[in-house]
Amino acid sequence: IEAPIALATAPEGLTGEGFFATKLSDVVGLARKNSIWPLPFATSCCGIEFMALMASHYDLARFGSERVSFSPRQCDLLMVMGTIAKKMAPIVKQVYLQMAEPRWVLAMGACASSGGIFDSYAVLQGIDQIIPVDVYVPGCPPRPEAVLDGFMKVQDLVGKENLRRRNSERYKELMNSYGIQ
Ligand code: SF4
Repeated sequence: IEAPIALATAPEGLTGEGFFATKLSDVVGLARKNSIWPLPFATSCCGIEFMALMASHYDLARFGSERVSFSPRQCDLLMVMGTIAKKMAPIVKQVYLQMAEPRWVLAMGACASSGGIFDSYAVLQGIDQIIPVDVYVPGCPPRPEAVLDGFMKVQDLVGKENLRRRNSERYKELMNSYGIQ
């Protein structure tokens, strides 16, 4: 996995003879981070900002993520946006569990991150009470620029992800802490 790869031709911008060395994990990370398939789990107003994010002005497709997936089996990034009622919480967790590894989670907006203004017996006070969250995007709602910033932070995590991390003891401990086997 860590073996260097020699490229026969110089990458764009590099001229002359020689070779370019990198690691397989970096190549996989580069491919993964630029082909993230998001699953939008929108329950309320933050979902409207997601529509703006996908439209031509902000255009998430520039990051290789125009392919929005509504099948958990075919997505990499769960984007939770909106108020999550406690009755809805098991559904969010079920969707997360149906995603294949490696998987990432972005909490978009105050409601998904912490319950937001709905400090109520009926509302989950943040999705990190039921599933691990990789990136939080603050705001009520966050502007599309803020969501893009959060998305790029996810890209950083994806690009640097060790290919074996998901089998690490640390990751297993994290999953166990959420009751996920
Ligand atoms: Fe609506 Fe604000 Fe909650 Fe987003 S954070 S779902 S805009 S109330």
